[in-house]
Amino acid sequence: MAKAKNQKKKLVQIKPGQQALLRKLPGVDHLMELTAKEAFFKGVPPAVVVNSIRSVIDNKRQAILNDEPSINDKNLSAPHLIDAVKNAAKNAMTPNLRNTINATGVVVHTNLGRSLLATEVVENLITIASRYSNLEYDLNIGKRGSRYSSVKDLICEISGAEAAMVVNNNAGAVLLCLETIARNKEVIVSRGELVEIGGSFRVPDVMVKSGGILREVGTTNRTHLRDYENAIDPKTGLLLKVHTSNYSVVGFTAEVSLRELVDLGAAHQLPVMEDLGSGTFIDFSKYGLLKEPTVQESVTAGADVITFSGDKLLGGPQAGIIVGKKEVVDRIKKNPITRALRIDKLTLAALESTLRLYRDEEKAVRMIPTLQMIMLPLKEVQKRAQHLAKALKNIGDARMHIQLLEHSSKTGGGALPLMELPSLCVGIQIKDMSPNALEKAMRSNDPPIIGRIEDDLFVMDPRTIQKDELSIIETAFENLTKKA
Ligand SMILES: *Cc1c(COP(=O)(O)O)cnc(C)c1O
Repeated sequence: MAKAKNQKKKLVQIKPGQQALLRKLPGVDHLMELTAKEAFFKGVPPAVVVNSIRSVIDNKRQAILNDEPSINDKNLSAPHLIDAVKNAAKNAMTPNLRNTINATGVVVHTNLGRSLLATEVVENLITIASRYSNLEYDLNIGKRGSRYSSVKDLICEISGAEAAMVVNNNAGAVLLCLETIARNKEVIVSRGELVEIGGSFRVPDVMVKSGGILREVGTTNRTHLRDYENAIDPKTGLLLKVHTSNYSVVGFTAEVSLRELVDLGAAHQLPVMEDLGSGTFIDFSKYGLLKEPTVQESVTAGADVITFSGDKLLGGPQAGIIVGKKEVVDRIKKNPITRALRIDKLTLAALESTLRLYRDEEKAVRMIPTLQMIMLPLKEVQKRAQHLAKALKNIGDARMHIQLLEHSSKTGGGALPLMELPSLCVGIQIKDMSPNALEKAMRSNDPPIIGRIEDDLFVMDPRTIQKDELSIIETAFENLTKKA
């Protein structure tokens, strides 16, 4: 119905001039014949060629109907359209998921893929991916084994926990734990910890889906032990602590420590769970950075179950890691949902080799890119900023205005929201080009360069730019100024 209406509207609107231009448009078959003669289209699947032709013709038709000034007799000719078809086919043949330069200064950038894997980890990934493996095969007994055995012992060794398992991501881990422990029971959570993280993970919503019943206690800024205590009744199934990863409540505040919750849980025979969010094995305060609670501390405090991400501060692949008391983790393993949240072998391979690096903290800090970037000394960031600024100045385009700016980088990934990592950024302005146009041009580069706009400048933070990407950025600006 709606379609018929649309068509009618179009028919009524076509003017004689447009009619003439529409008649000039070559047909699909004609363009098909032309592409068959071009070497470029060898190896491009026919379906891609046809779709590219159709989309080019559709675009031109639309442009004619919109009276776009760019349209004339000449650029509707078949040879002219073939160029557009080539572009469309090239686009269609380029992988959608591709490398991007992160110039935002946000280290764990969820939109840009969170953590980069260490070189050693990538090598192991390739080895495992290209051959059969003992993924679920116990080589000692020659029978079916557990998928998690390759990482379970490592996680226990590093964290000090009794038991461990891994699922697809931390959201899945939280859902699974709540479903196992607290289905149809009340889960007591502080109002100050009802977190929403990006991408629609909200503690109250996950609670509903798990079958747990949220029992909020305390206030946004202050929650006391007695608030939890007063809420405990026969329906209570779990005490939950959620790390407020991406925000901080400051000022007149009070929160109950995990340790106190564990004591309270013990007194009432209630399990205690902590969603650590990012989770880290490394005490950042040792490196002069802000404190992020470590997994080991939560284990020592005695939580029954703790969940955290594999690809946030840990710097590994996407995964949800669950550690805790053996009795609880065994129950979680038996939950049929576990099968639906199962981790795949590539993730497992990457996770195992990332975890191996943590056996030696010095090695982890040196080799895991996420940690490297967070701990990159200001001096090194400054060096890279100055190098980039100099290279851009050397392009010698008077329209380009380059500045060094003392800004700060962020860890991202919903961790350490208050931590500002001092940084030196490169800010660029091009005369007669808006900051938005510049940002878009860089985003359209191959590979795309993602920066940010601040005070009308296109700003790039070298902290998250990989060393070998600096020259790519230089070339992108060289090409841009040549064109402009
Ligand atoms: C990031 C985060 C999650 C979700 O983790 P994913 O690994 O992204 O699924 C859950 N809870 C908290 C507190 C988080 O910060």
